[in-house]
Amino acid sequence: MASDPAAAATETTRFDFLVVGGGSGGLAGARRASELGATTAVIESHRLGGTCVNVGCVPKKVMWNAAVHAEYLHDHSDYGFDVGNVRFSWETLKTKRDAYVSHLNRIYRNNLDKAKIQTIQGHARFTDDPEPTVEVSGRKYTAPHILIATGGQPSVLTEAEVPGASFGITSDGFFELETLPKRSVVVGAGYIAVEMAGILSTLGSKTSLIIRQSGVLRNFDSFISTNCTKELQNSGIDLWKNSQVKSVSKTDRGLEVTLVTKDPEKKNDEEKTSTIQEVDCLLWAIGRQPNISGLNISAMGVDMDERGHIIVDEFQNTSRPGIYAVGDVCGKALLTPVAIAAGRKLAHRLFEGKKDSKLDYSSIPTVVFSHPPIGTMGLTEDEAIKSWGKENVKIYKTSFTPMYHALTSRKSQCIMKLVCVGKEEKVVGLHMQGLGCDEMLQGFSVAIKMGATKADFDKTIAIHPTSSEEFVTMR
Ligand SMILES: Cc1cc2nc3c(=O)[nH]c(=O)nc-3n(C[C@H](O)[C@H](O)[C@H](O)COP(=O)(O)OP(=O)(O)OC[C@H]3O[C@@H](n4cnc5c(N)ncnc54)[C@H](O)[C@@H]3O)c2cc1C
Repeated sequence: MASDPAAAATETTRFDFLVVGGGSGGLAGARRASELGATTAVIESHRLGGTCVNVGCVPKKVMWNAAVHAEYLHDHSDYGFDVGNVRFSWETLKTKRDAYVSHLNRIYRNNLDKAKIQTIQGHARFTDDPEPTVEVSGRKYTAPHILIATGGQPSVLTEAEVPGASFGITSDGFFELETLPKRSVVVGAGYIAVEMAGILSTLGSKTSLIIRQSGVLRNFDSFISTNCTKELQNSGIDLWKNSQVKSVSKTDRGLEVTLVTKDPEKKNDEEKTSTIQEVDCLLWAIGRQPNISGLNISAMGVDMDERGHIIVDEFQNTSRPGIYAVGDVCGKALLTPVAIAAGRKLAHRLFEGKKDSKLDYSSIPTVVFSHPPIGTMGLTEDEAIKSWGKENVKIYKTSFTPMYHALTSRKSQCIMKLVCVGKEEKVVGLHMQGLGCDEMLQGFSVAIKMGATKADFDKTIAIHPTSSEEFVTMR
């Protein structure tokens, strides 16, 4: 320990593994490295757990669960229950949700302490030292292996792009809402826009969804994209297709959101201008960008793409030896389990000598918590045709009303599609939307990852009466 405080401030603390970002990928990599014997530290500028725990998957799923309650309330009388006058308190839900998230923050902190991983609170910035070094609040840290797992943040529009844009919030702000907005406008067509519009609308906010083209989830299989767009409309969301927000202004009765809508069928450039009034929540869900501000990584010789994502090879190596990146900051498959798995695989490679340890990014299953939920994995029909040729692709699909809705006046469809390729009809894609599809996907994804063919599906006895049995009886 240096006796001179000035020298202490410039002294560099050394670890085997230094992790920048205490979110899904960073924490998973750090804990696995520590289990494997590496002295490890995690630097976190905000709350442990990152996006997923604080402003992503976890609080989102709590809100979706609440919305599912609201949906089922519509069906109670059809199933013989008289539930009388049910009232909903957003405030109660938010208090309990926030307490749960804080509980998880504490668990993460305890887990790090138990694993003897040092937690360093503050914003990390690479210094100009010859050896890769990170500075936090005036103190320097280094390691032969440094992992960047700084995640992402919601994209926002500038005032120059859309005057008044800053009156809106992002998904981060959604989790700060103290009351249920009466009138919401959500902008975006990706899964976060779909999920947030669904939650707001189902819980009772009159919700409009503004999308630039004619459907949502445009990078999903077209069967899903079309059906989800229809379900949003069926559920009462006011969908503005081919529309963009032009300006936002604040009045004493809320926000006024001005849109332009252009019919793509019409050859002329005619635009229709409309205004949605008395909006008390405008939510931009227009994409996410990598969290690299103030990191000073370009000075480290770490290559990035044009959007600022850190470029890594299949082993999560950046262009600078000894610096690695995992998770959303790399811009590929922005999902918690992907960041976790990549972090763990890296730790095994670096600290257990498993030279080939790397994540297989193919066929990643994922769920969209829409109403009803979507489950999807592998190639879309179009992708399969592009890779295998139309003649080698066989599609099986079905749509039906789940038995649950036999008694309810509220209806939603279940749609399912299998994308198969080659003579053996190997299943390379599975796409579905309907009641229970969120919990249905994981088991099927094991089979697909193992290389299941359509014949394997057919050989499996159906579970009756369920929706999932349709997957093993398709013709
Ligand atoms: C609304 C929403 C819903 C989502 N729902 C799902 C879902 O249902 N399922 C799913 O799998 N995924 C979901 N995701 C995505 C998921 O949250 C992310 O893929 C995941 O959190 C990425 O993990 P990460 O480790 O890369 O980054 P993060 O979890 O974002 O962690 C990065 C951490 O780094 C910290 N940090 C950044 N810069 C610095 C710095 N310079 N110094 C110190 N610390 C820094 C940040 O504060 C943050 O805590 C959702 C995301 C959002 C926004």
